[in-house]
Amino acid sequence: MSFQQVCVLGSTGSIGVSTLDVIARHPDRMAVYALSAYSRMQKLAEQAMACAPKVVVVPDSAARERFVQAWSSSAPCAMPEVRVGAKALEETVADAQVTTVMAAIIGAAGMPAALAAARAGKRILLANKEALVAAGSLFIEVAKQGGAELLPIDSEHSAIFQCLDQHHKSVPGNPLANDVRRLIITASGGPFRQTPLLELPQVSPEQACAHPNWSMGRKISVDSATMLNKGLEVIEAYWLFSVPIEKIDVVVHPQSVIHSMVEYIDGSVMAQLGQPDMRTAIAYGLGFPERIDSGVGLLDLASMGRLDFEAPDLQRFPCLRLAFDALRSGQAACVSLNAANEIAVERFLNRQVSYTQIPQIIEHTLDRLQRCSDAALNSLDAILALDQDARRVAADFCR
Ligand code: NAD
Ligand code: MG
Repeated sequence: MSFQQVCVLGSTGSIGVSTLDVIARHPDRMAVYALSAYSRMQKLAEQAMACAPKVVVVPDSAARERFVQAWSSSAPCAMPEVRVGAKALEETVADAQVTTVMAAIIGAAGMPAALAAARAGKRILLANKEALVAAGSLFIEVAKQGGAELLPIDSEHSAIFQCLDQHHKSVPGNPLANDVRRLIITASGGPFRQTPLLELPQVSPEQACAHPNWSMGRKISVDSATMLNKGLEVIEAYWLFSVPIEKIDVVVHPQSVIHSMVEYIDGSVMAQLGQPDMRTAIAYGLGFPERIDSGVGLLDLASMGRLDFEAPDLQRFPCLRLAFDALRSGQAACVSLNAANEIAVERFLNRQVSYTQIPQIIEHTLDRLQRCSDAALNSLDAILALDQDARRVAADFCR
């Protein structure tokens, strides 16, 4: 790969910060072309002063004002061009200079820009799983037509991608060869893996966000606690690797050292191991097909002593069951599942609903919208319209 100019969408988030860390280690291979953030303009300005992008994209003119004010007169580089709004985000990823797009905006809000990068045929480092969950077939189709290269950043999917033989590497969306028997996605089980079930209705957002192994944004941390995140990842794997649902398994592995596995028909199981640090997957995507330094430390198995595994408990984690059901039922259910979950998690983080109401809100929304047909979901507008309907149903239920 020649020199990469990277557009980092969601640069102030957990994945965005890790991405900038990896890019800064390789000034001979890559540079930041653009940054984008939705809030925290002070942080965005600090990032821009450190990595000198050509462009930053902010949501509105008030954010633009805050960004300009935060810019220091002693900055070591010129102030970047400041573009405003969601459309500017879509245009920026398609800029001719951009080679690579890190899609790390959280939630369905990240879909339009990720799709624009697919259409423009860029190398897409896909952290935003919601784009595949809600718009899988459209996204894969657009990426194929646009000639985009899709590299998974979610640690499980990066692990699977790394465990596939060279001739199996099929992203985006070509069916895996028949000699793959199963994709085995590992899950930590989150902070409530052993909490007595009777205590779950009282758990707080702080407890839910205190992930035992990974440091992540708040929304995905709650999703990890409910294991809805694992459900989204099953759907993501279904689209990325084009495998039937029966070939995707989930196993709970509390240490998060094995990031996922591929089982072949000869009985071989390939696993990717490492520290729970997203910079490994990010560096793999940025460096592909070569491996580059990520800053991640050694894996000391001897001091770790043991690795444990157990089957997921669907009574404890009803959200995982709901996600499998949604995938079996079709795309409309996946859109509703994701949208209802975003509302439920937001309300939980704001202490408006309890932790155990999250699956109830999702289930209610899926029941109410179950007659929506997949055939109508052939455009981003149609998907976003259903997403909005599901948000309304979920929000009404929360009242
Ligand atoms: P985060 O909440 O830490 O950061 C989100 C970023 O998106 C921020 O820069 C924010 O300003 C921006 N953003 C938020 N709302 C926006 C909107 N409406 N429009 C434009 N930008 C917006 O999130 P994160 O944990 O970094 O996760 C980012 C994505 O990566 C998610 O889709 C998540 O599922 C996925 N992911 C994260 C991890 C992880 O370790 N954090 C692991 C695997 C996958
Ligand atoms: Mg993951």
